Amino acid sequence: MRLPTRRPMHNEGTSFDFDLVVVGASFAGAACALAAAQRGLRVCVLERKRDPGEKLRTTGIIVKEAAERTMLGQAPASLVRRIEGVRLYAPSLEHLNLSSPGYYFLTTDTPGLMRWLAQQLRAHGVDLRLGSAFSDGERIVDGWQLPGVGRTRYLIGADGARSRVAKRCALGEVRDFLYGIEYEFPGAQLAHPDALHCFVGKRFAPGYIGWLAQNPTGIQAGLALRHDPTNARAPDIDAFLLHAGVAGGLPRYLKPGQVRAGLIPCGGPVANIARDRAILVGDAAGIVSPVTAGGIHSAWDHGWAVGRAVAARLRDDGPPPEQVALQTAPSFRVKRALRWAFDHFQMDWPFDLLLHTSPLRWAAEQVYFHRNG
Ligand SMILES: Cc1cc2nc3c(=O)[nH]c(=O)nc-3n(C[C@H](O)[C@H](O)[C@H](O)COP(=O)(O)OP(=O)(O)OC[C@H]3O[C@@H](n4cnc5c(N)ncnc54)[C@H](O)[C@@H]3O)c2cc1C
Repeated sequence: MRLPTRRPMHNEGTSFDFDLVVVGASFAGAACALAAAQRGLRVCVLERKRDPGEKLRTTGIIVKEAAERTMLGQAPASLVRRIEGVRLYAPSLEHLNLSSPGYYFLTTDTPGLMRWLAQQLRAHGVDLRLGSAFSDGERIVDGWQLPGVGRTRYLIGADGARSRVAKRCALGEVRDFLYGIEYEFPGAQLAHPDALHCFVGKRFAPGYIGWLAQNPTGIQAGLALRHDPTNARAPDIDAFLLHAGVAGGLPRYLKPGQVRAGLIPCGGPVANIARDRAILVGDAAGIVSPVTAGGIHSAWDHGWAVGRAVAARLRDDGPPPEQVALQTAPSFRVKRALRWAFDHFQMDWPFDLLLHTSPLRWAAEQVYFHRNG
């Protein structure tokens, strides 16, 4: 791969080691770093994991829009599996098949995808430091000084829902969460592998859903619910799988391999996304759909926009990236209202009663296939 040539920048001094240091090498961090590196900036990415494919906190399903409009669509074919339909289960376990012409999701070999992203960073000249956790930074004139890393003009927090960068830089912190947990069943095959199986029901998933999906290497089975810090309840994934596994085509007596779990922001963007050359992107900024809890596409887009904005600022005196970070953060106004309604009025009986009606099908299609309803 050809490395980008570096042009000297407007206002460039010699006292900075990096133009930007990005904390986190997942979707938001990779997008931000790649966008900046492609424009010739000196970029360092700090990732606390030694192997980017370990300790995952995502199912890793990529929506069509992200597959077609971002670099994620260039991932090797062996790392993705195309799924064209959704099978939506009511609490009674009756189901409805949904599809939309041309629409699809990509399930992923997520550990492989994260390692591929790390390779892309290095191929684009990014100084990727695995096993390096950000813990502190000091504000200096026109930038930040990070112990053991050096001086940077911009500090980017792409470090997820519990952002250390947000804390250290006194930026906004995410407060509203779902909590998701997922089992991996390597080598296993669902009875109906070409649908994403989604289970609605207050008993196991108050505030969200349970799911089963076939990925390139096996099955993923997960459950997420509204996280209440004062009364935290762990999702009972074992009971959920006993209840719904057979209906969803999960083979019996499987032993789970790895477990993926984590908090998912669901309250919309944080109030204070950026200041003083420190900027939050992706989950750290609360940029996840409050309805679908999908955050990969929005994390990528936001990270990319901020990476480009830093380059535009340093090269061509473009607008302050702090301003761009705010402007490009989706507000999710309607989705936040839907989240509030779901949190307060979720009931099982309307799903059981209305499952096969046109209004329910219509509403489900808006959510799953991102139609503008
Ligand atoms: C169980 C679960 C399933 C999900 N499934 C989907 C899905 O299928 N599709 C979808 O679109 N969205 C899904 N989401 C949401 C989606 O995964 C996130 O929105 C997305 O990963 C956000 O990307 P990010 O780069 O902002 O943050 P993250 O993916 O959280 O990455 C943060 C990175 O920062 C690193 N880091 C953290 N702290 C530090 C530190 N101090 N120093 C250095 N590095 C640090 C972490 O190791 C990590 O690599 C899911 C979330 C969960 C919890």
